[in-house]
Amino acid sequence: MSVSILGSRESGQNIRDTNVRAVQAVANIVKSSLGPNGLDKMLVDEIGDVVISNDGATILRSLEVQHPAAKVLVELSRLQDQEVGDGTTSVVIVAAELLKRANDLVKYKIHPTTIIAGFRLAMKESIQYIKDYLSVKTESLGKDAILNVAKTSLNSKLIGAESDHFASMIVNCVEAVGVMGASKEMKYPIKSIKVLKCIGQSAKESVHLNGFALMTGRTAQGMPTSIKNARIACLDFNLNKFKLQMGAQVLVNDAKNLEKIRLRELEITKERIEKVLKAGANVIFATKAIDDFALKYFVEAGAIAVRRVDKKDIRKIAKQCGAEVLITLMNNEGEEVFNESSLGSAEEVSEERLGDNDFIFIKGMKHSSSQTLILRGANEFMLDEIERSVHDAICVVKRVLESKSVVVGGGAVETALSIYLDSFARTLGSKEQLAISEFAESLLVIPKTLAINAAQDACDLLAKLKMYHSASQNSSDEKKQEYKYVGLDLANGKVRNNLKAGVLEPTISKIKSLKFATEAAISILRIDDLIELAPKPEKERDGH
Ligand code: ADP
Ligand code: MG
Repeated sequence: MSVSILGSRESGQNIRDTNVRAVQAVANIVKSSLGPNGLDKMLVDEIGDVVISNDGATILRSLEVQHPAAKVLVELSRLQDQEVGDGTTSVVIVAAELLKRANDLVKYKIHPTTIIAGFRLAMKESIQYIKDYLSVKTESLGKDAILNVAKTSLNSKLIGAESDHFASMIVNCVEAVGVMGASKEMKYPIKSIKVLKCIGQSAKESVHLNGFALMTGRTAQGMPTSIKNARIACLDFNLNKFKLQMGAQVLVNDAKNLEKIRLRELEITKERIEKVLKAGANVIFATKAIDDFALKYFVEAGAIAVRRVDKKDIRKIAKQCGAEVLITLMNNEGEEVFNESSLGSAEEVSEERLGDNDFIFIKGMKHSSSQTLILRGANEFMLDEIERSVHDAICVVKRVLESKSVVVGGGAVETALSIYLDSFARTLGSKEQLAISEFAESLLVIPKTLAINAAQDACDLLAKLKMYHSASQNSSDEKKQEYKYVGLDLANGKVRNNLKAGVLEPTISKIKSLKFATEAAISILRIDDLIELAPKPEKERDGH
């Protein structure tokens, strides 16, 4: 007897096939954007907004995928983006390949549970192998290692050609925000890096600034353009002409008194400004408006006032320069006061002009070493993509500076793992052996795709890679062991020692992407039933 369901039901092999097809379709979209020779995608949404990107997570996010299994992949790349920052394309491609091969195994009558167990074991072994044999400590590689990591991440992007310029800028920037953490380890809070986009000039004109920058100018021409030893006030209220609350009624009998009320309204704001200035403030940031009549008080006092600062920015500034963001001047007794303790300090606040925009720079803040990157680019799409690429590289550099460990890119790790897992599988006498072999084979999709995207002979290169890695793992000769660093040289269609060539990636990025890809494949593989409930029929209205 079967249960009747209002809706459709798909189960067993059918649903697995459907899922694999959907996942494959998604992976195929991003496949051609992998690697230094990968191409970009242009995505246009329903209102005509254009996104041009090479970043897996960005592409998939813009797709609005409907299929539930394919959505798992979209989530997967988002997770990778959040946790690691880079490697969002690779993770999707590996997950889809794992799933495809798992589905083939199921067709050969191997139970999904066995495959899942095999995949889990393979993942664990791979991670251990990376940690024990494939990772390299950055100390042994010298200073260039970090630069090379940033370059590898940038290579595959729009700004790949300028990767030298950007890599050194990003490394300097991330190194400058380093602080000693509680456990005596250096931490690199990349939140202290502000990235500003400024249309105009070429990407190469992008600059790194030591300090915090706001893309706005001072409010009046009469204010100084630079103030040394700045004392900073952060106000989260407006400095407009004072107005009574809505609904308050004042009855005036004599017309002369009306003028008095007007004057008093102006005076209240003036008093507020004087209180702030008297406490010693010479730089004032306000999140809301500052009336034009009020500006003259700042000009007379020789102070810089900036209005309409973003709330997020003002909080950052306040935190870093030791100021307090005030939402009112009112104290507990109902009086308006401004305490000197609410002020923060910085070595210098100045206004400078870059391109078509004015910037306010805050340098040498009390509590932090805030850094700013000002990106330049010909148009909005380019700038957005540069920002994403720079973000990837910043994340990668942070990971390497904190964990001090890298692996070799260009398919080296994947091939090494594949060869290792293949021989590991043969040591097992159970059915999981097959699953592990397929896992091993799946990893090769990365070097294969890299070669295809670079218009090189993938079969030939893969065979060479396998030969070197096999030789390295089956020999105790020290020279041959070095072969474990052999990866693809995509420009020349050859293989080379990629450790020497400086194609490096953070170890943690590879480990996490292996973990995430396996988990995603497993979670889709576990599905053997899809029940889609039909929407409830709307109750027919009484006909009128
Ligand atoms: P993802 O979104 O996964 O980071 P990318 O398009 O950035 O995808 O490509 C990353 C892949 O490209 C990695 O496998 C990396 O090893 C490889 N790669 C990057 N630069 C080079 C290079 N110069 N030579 C060979 N492979 C490279
Ligand atoms: Mg990348």
